[in-house]
Amino acid sequence: MSSNFLTDLHNANISGVAFKNIKLKKQILAYFAAHELGTIAELSKAFNVSIPKINESINELIEEKLVKDYGKQTSSVGRKPNNYGLEANSAFFIGVQVSHDYISIAMINMKKELVASKDEIPFQLENSEQSLHDICKEITDFISKLHIKKEKILGVGINLSGRINYRTGYSYSYFNFYEDPLSNFFEQELGIHTFLENDTKALSYGEFSSGIVTNERDALFINVDNGIGLGIMVNGQLYYGKSGFSGEFGHIPIFDNDIICKCGKKGCLETEASGHALRKRIIEEIQNGATSILTKKFSNIEDIRLNDIIHAAKKDDTLSIEAINEIGEKLGRGLAALINIFNPELIIIGGVLAKSEEYLSLPLKNAINKYSLSIVNKDTKIVVSTHGEKFSPIGACLLLRDRLLAITE
Ligand SMILES: [Zn+2]
Repeated sequence: MSSNFLTDLHNANISGVAFKNIKLKKQILAYFAAHELGTIAELSKAFNVSIPKINESINELIEEKLVKDYGKQTSSVGRKPNNYGLEANSAFFIGVQVSHDYISIAMINMKKELVASKDEIPFQLENSEQSLHDICKEITDFISKLHIKKEKILGVGINLSGRINYRTGYSYSYFNFYEDPLSNFFEQELGIHTFLENDTKALSYGEFSSGIVTNERDALFINVDNGIGLGIMVNGQLYYGKSGFSGEFGHIPIFDNDIICKCGKKGCLETEASGHALRKRIIEEIQNGATSILTKKFSNIEDIRLNDIIHAAKKDDTLSIEAINEIGEKLGRGLAALINIFNPELIIIGGVLAKSEEYLSLPLKNAINKYSLSIVNKDTKIVVSTHGEKFSPIGACLLLRDRLLAITE
């Protein structure tokens, strides 16, 4: 792996003057990320650092091709100083969403512009070496078609479901058959720094950065997919907990049932209020003789996927509508508990099932009113995001970029 200023940011052994220099450069890059452009005087004032020192760092960043001189502003009278900003294509970040039946890959540049993407590449997720090699092959293929130097790609972020510790690079739910961190395996295969992320956290970060969140600092993102994930933003930062396992909302024991959850326990929220529960119920009801437009479309009802059920609901299929309504009601009960605990300003309902919009959100809102404290829930705005998983790979890219620029922790 080649070394440059940004990859040096990964190096914890730098100290003294070198550390101070890197810190200042990082602050300058973060300033440009937030303000677009800035002059030497503005930077000097913002960081309380002398003009010659700022000048020196800016010149180094220009030499490293990370910062560009955007020239003088023209509109005002008098001599205007030069404005500097990020060089858009100085570096790139790749994000990979690994879902059950597809992989999506995206790449952004320093200025968060989407440079390349490949959505929903067919793939089968299994906890096997073959599946892991398939992921590497798709990423390698994607990179080989980019026509950019590999050293300009500062990181690959890979989203997996289940327990992930992004700080150590260990995955505990998928591909946990090596002694070394899984991120090391990807780094060796790809030759690029690799970071693992929990898929809901990456999707949350993508959604939080997509424009839905404006001034809110405390928000929750609910990923309603086959399972139920939760992304927590506290004071503008993603909340991870000690080992990155926060947000296991789907596994709170809310039901007094005997359904065994995929986590091995009984009565989890996911057993009755998830996409998995929805699909299971639809299939069972059809097997028991219920009528649905889905029976005409599928000769083998096991082939029915979540998107098909959502589509059927939108075509007025009563069975699908009623089943989604019920999921919304049960999920709302769970959300009432979250509202009481977090007092959030904003809750975003996202993930695949959110595409069923009001069929899910109306009973959900009713249940929130019924089960949460009204003084608390009146602070909370609830919005539905119909983006599905679109922002998952982008969220992974943004997390890489924003961590390197120290915009986020
Ligand atoms: Zn569970």
